[in-house]
Amino acid sequence: MNIAIDGPAGAGKSTIAKLVAKELGNIYVDTGAMYRAMALYMIKNGISPDDVASIEEACEHADISIAYQDGAQHVMLNGEDVTGELRTEAVGNMASSTSVNARVRTKLVSLQQKLAERTGVVMDGRDIGTVVLPNAEVKVYLTASVETRAKRRYKELIEKGLTADFDAIAADIRDRDYRDMNRKNSPLRQADDAVLVDSSDMTIDEVVSAILDLTKKA
Ligand code: C5P
Repeated sequence: MNIAIDGPAGAGKSTIAKLVAKELGNIYVDTGAMYRAMALYMIKNGISPDDVASIEEACEHADISIAYQDGAQHVMLNGEDVTGELRTEAVGNMASSTSVNARVRTKLVSLQQKLAERTGVVMDGRDIGTVVLPNAEVKVYLTASVETRAKRRYKELIEKGLTADFDAIAADIRDRDYRDMNRKNSPLRQADDAVLVDSSDMTIDEVVSAILDLTKKA
């Protein structure tokens, strides 16, 4: 069984998807990490988010693959494990800007579809239910208010001992939502057959149970 979880940045997709995958014995696939690895390649090579020709050329030179260690996804960029470098705001913003490119998307969608052919997956992203796995047995559109998502991100950074500016985080989330929802290629939207789950006032356990209930009915 394949489960597609789409939604905006900070809705809790990866936390929820990991727990659902563990319960079901499926593999968890974090597609955002693949867009982030492409973005990291571009940052490391000094490519600007507006330089379409260089972004498309990067698709020829950035080899991205996925490996699993103790059930955790590791992203390899040209043979190097870059998992630890992907979760910064700079990489996230570059990923959001460069993921509008059709060449970048075609390359990564094909890698994602190959992973799901081999085994049952819980895959999260922006276009999983609409483009990557249109036949997924369960589709969820997981969202939460901008305020809730910004609070969660703020708390995460503070707990890591980093400095954080709540208003800047909220503004970043709004910008990223706008870009993800209004791009020409595979914009973020709820698939017609996806179930909407708003996690603003739900605990993690409640969201996981809601999704597990959907898998029982599928
Ligand atoms: O989910 P995450 O924040 O790691 O994703 C980083 C960026 O990658 C998103 O803002 C989005 O622009 C892009 N992305 C995408 N399609 C996906 C997953 C992520 O366009 N399936």
